[in-house]
Amino acid sequence: MTTYRTQNPSTGKVVRSWDSLDPREVGTAIDTAEEAFTSWRRTSVEERAGVLARTAHLFEQRAEELAGIAASEMGKPVSQGIAEAQLVAQIFDYYAQRADELMADEVLPDQGANSSRVEKQPLGVLLGVMPWNFPYYQLARFIAPNLLLGNTLLLKPASICAASALEMEKLLDQAGLPKGVHQTLLVDSSQIADIIADPRVRGVSLTGSEGAGASVAAAAGKHLKKVVLELGGSDPLIVLGGDIDAVASTAARARLSNAGQACNSPKRMIVVDEFYDTFVDKLSAALSAAVVGDPQDGATDVGPMSSTDARDELMELVDDAVGHGAHVLVGGHPREGAGAFMEATVLTDVTRDMRAWSEELFGPVAVVFRAADVDEAVALANETDFGLSGSVWSDDLELAEATARRLDVGMAYVNEHGTSLAGLPFGGVGRSGFGRELGDYGVDEFVNKRLVRVS
Ligand code: NAP
Repeated sequence: MTTYRTQNPSTGKVVRSWDSLDPREVGTAIDTAEEAFTSWRRTSVEERAGVLARTAHLFEQRAEELAGIAASEMGKPVSQGIAEAQLVAQIFDYYAQRADELMADEVLPDQGANSSRVEKQPLGVLLGVMPWNFPYYQLARFIAPNLLLGNTLLLKPASICAASALEMEKLLDQAGLPKGVHQTLLVDSSQIADIIADPRVRGVSLTGSEGAGASVAAAAGKHLKKVVLELGGSDPLIVLGGDIDAVASTAARARLSNAGQACNSPKRMIVVDEFYDTFVDKLSAALSAAVVGDPQDGATDVGPMSSTDARDELMELVDDAVGHGAHVLVGGHPREGAGAFMEATVLTDVTRDMRAWSEELFGPVAVVFRAADVDEAVALANETDFGLSGSVWSDDLELAEATARRLDVGMAYVNEHGTSLAGLPFGGVGRSGFGRELGDYGVDEFVNKRLVRVS
């Protein structure tokens, strides 16, 4: 059964394919992970931090090469792939540098005993189910903190991104990670429920769509396993004022990054009446000027989408909106010829009867809404089942911050959008999932916080 294949989205050519593992091979991988856990959990924090620091160094050194693999697998422009590899280096380095502090016991007030403290113990074998859109960064968010904790990992990459996941496994090997502590698991998504059911697997983390999240959470719930979900988003970017030209060009860049295929991309831009026309003009100009093309070319702003299927799904949402009265100001079509290219698009006049109102537009399409005032802007922003991130833009920082605090999201920003750094927690609420990755919060999920009280 071949389920994994690298198909260059710029050309449509299949570059390589892999057979997925059969149930016996999956069982062997779980045996190996379980066996590796018995020794990995007993390594010193210093030893584990050493592996993380060396992995960081390798990512830094090999950023260009890694970016090339991502570009050929899922179409990310190389300049963005290099930035992704560098961010991954920062993530591994963060947990390496913070290792002692993050793993230290928490001493509690004695409360009648000689001592009380909380120790961090690993849970055991974990399963990570990961998407294709950031084929290194998403994996690093799961891998780095959990290796520090002493867990062992089975990682199922997206079926279009085996090569980048296997390359990452190679780098971890080169960094000195003992055999079996991290394994790439090339399995079909239909095999995931059985893996979660295996008593040796103690938890599962999924980054991906709501559907995948729901089925993984159902399997985890059935077997009483810890689960973290990082799902989709339809993040609002609210413009209340400021330098509208600059805000529009930053918003355009954020929307087009990774061909618009980011969970926390500003998919809904909500602009107060006074600035709406100027913002729409500037945004349209910026999107028209974006260079759509070969991701291997350093001048490219927008590469292909991950596949023609993904582009066709996005076009269905655009066509549905237009069919119900929305207006396309810029773009609105697939690009002619080979590859999964899509024009950068601005949509206005989107209303509640359109799918684009409530569904995630996972591609280079910006929807702009007009709001009469701040209250209407906040109401529109919160009128979604998602709750990943949101941003508010204004020179009036007091107003902007007060407005950002009214957003029902896991991450609220003022005068920036969607910043992800190694030290900042990442995660959402509502249909965007639950749990947090990155920062000090990243070691709070798959861990037994064991109380030790001595009287
Ligand atoms: P996806 O189709 O849900 O795939 C994600 C992973 O789940 C893949 O490994 C996929 O395997 C697997 N999968 C799919 N259906 C499954 C099922 N029923 N049971 C178990 N596993 C299943 O998502 P995607 O298209 O790769 O990624 C895009 C989505 O991810 C968007 O909604 C985006 O917003 C979200 N995302 C969220 C975050 C965040 O941090 N919140 C970050 C990035 C992306 P196959 O590839 O083999 O189908």
